[in-house]
Amino acid sequence: MIEHGQRAHSRLSPSSAHRWMKCPRSFWWEPDFPDSTSPHAEEGTAAHELSEKALAEGKDARSYEGQTFNGYKASEEMVTATQLYIDAINGTPGEHYLEERLEHPNIAGMFGTADDVADDAPTLYVSDLKYGKGVQVEAPGNAQLRIYGLMALHRFGVLNDYETVVTRIHQPRLNHTSGEELTVDELETWEQQNLIPAINRLDDEPETMVAGDHCRWCKAAAVCPELARVNMAAAEGMFEDDAPALPTDITEPELPSPESLTRDQIVAILGHRKQIENWLRAIETHVSDALQAGEEVPGYKMVAGRTQRKWEDEGQALEAARSAAWDDEILTTPRLKTPAQLEKAIGKERFRELMENHVSRAPGKPTLAPESDKRPALELRNPESLFDD
Ligand code: SF4
Repeated sequence: MIEHGQRAHSRLSPSSAHRWMKCPRSFWWEPDFPDSTSPHAEEGTAAHELSEKALAEGKDARSYEGQTFNGYKASEEMVTATQLYIDAINGTPGEHYLEERLEHPNIAGMFGTADDVADDAPTLYVSDLKYGKGVQVEAPGNAQLRIYGLMALHRFGVLNDYETVVTRIHQPRLNHTSGEELTVDELETWEQQNLIPAINRLDDEPETMVAGDHCRWCKAAAVCPELARVNMAAAEGMFEDDAPALPTDITEPELPSPESLTRDQIVAILGHRKQIENWLRAIETHVSDALQAGEEVPGYKMVAGRTQRKWEDEGQALEAARSAAWDDEILTTPRLKTPAQLEKAIGKERFRELMENHVSRAPGKPTLAPESDKRPALELRNPESLFDD
């Protein structure tokens, strides 16, 4: 049971606002789990450090290629991607404040660091670099960016009057930029009607769990009964009143065959696909962590992963093979890099200039995608329906 009045000690993190605004339990529960990081997160930090340095010193990202940031060498890919972000920031008007620490003076525990705030009164720009390319993030409605916008208004509003706040997310590795423009009135209305009630709900309904896409990075995902319940219900094709109350008896879930499901059930299940996949991944990580910490998990063990044979020392191996009078042709296989590998090595622009004409594209295999996918639907004709309904 959660003790009320603890909230002052917890952090109302803008980056997880999309989660705690929907699921109060996550706010109270996540601090119980250790902080974890990943190579992707560390590489993202490196990209942030590189872009901040380049912007502060007024240089191109390429000037830092090969240098180490947060333990990562600035690669061709990193300098190309961060340069897109740097160009976007340099093209944003106003006086810039990099890595600006912001806090909300009226909400205890709410603070964060914005990658860039540009003061171009009466407009305030708040920009965020997202180096990851796993999930495309949109600015419209983005709670993290809106909170940064509100905090920036408090920080800079003392000096200037603002009419508009523009928030922007830059995801250069996806070639994606997304923005939202709100009047100050609209932003403050969102604060009063959405943000403040969500914060109050943390105390009023601390046990309430609401599962959804926001569970993806929740530290409690692997052990959360609500997420398990929703995913099991989705996987079993059972919804609403039929959903099992708690997953305490998940030993052998009876999953229906696709043919026995209605079209609506299949659409609903596919709608949960990402959530179920993420949940299973979170459970696998949780079990691996437990085993590696020496705990026993019935039915599972850690084993050595597959390894690939490689030469201990390529030069010595080549010498040994040549001494057996074998031709270099037998020993080595020079191969042209693939278009993707070469583009990565020489950069998108040079690739487009020099090599694009030599690339052919076989038509992609028909792939299932949600209606919201940007690619146009294929024109397919299949007069025989596979659905019974
Ligand atoms: S996994 Fe989802 S439902 Fe469970 S606590 Fe986290 S956000 Fe809430």
